[in-house]
Amino acid sequence: MRISDILRVKGSKVVTVTPDSDVARLLAVLAEHKIGAVIVSADGSRVDGIVSERDVVRALAARGAAVLSEPVSRIHTVSVRSVSPEAPIEDVARLMTDHRFRHVPVLENGGLAGLVSIGDVVKNRIDELESERTSLEGYITGERY
Ligand code: AMP
Repeated sequence: MRISDILRVKGSKVVTVTPDSDVARLLAVLAEHKIGAVIVSADGSRVDGIVSERDVVRALAARGAAVLSEPVSRIHTVSVRSVSPEAPIEDVARLMTDHRFRHVPVLENGGLAGLVSIGDVVKNRIDELESERTSLEGYITGERY
């Protein structure tokens, strides 16, 4: 299974904020879309960074509520790891585990083609295991093979 199989189900929509948005606006976007991270992009396509709820928590712990009026560019991660739609899902799960992040943007021809979270990867794995189990049950009982 490849990342494109996940995107086929969840779509290619990626929520972005501009680098000069303030952190209060970022929190509103995260809450509105019920997500944990957004891509930081000046033009909505090129990836300038990624910012997650963890970055906000760290900055709040370090500098307090004044962070809310700081630009997102002060707290985002600039060195973003991305994958292509052809990447095997297992490789992306390992990338997330090794680097301890839960979000990976998908790039195609230099532009954003989606964003995969660790929740998407786990859901895909559970669906796959359930489908394998159904096939095996059918094979054993002779109902399906
Ligand atoms: P997360 O687990 O995704 O909430 O992110 C944990 C930390 O890793 C935060 O500092 C994020 O800005 C950063 N981060 C998240 N996704 C990526 C990524 N794909 N590449 C690089 N850093 C990331």
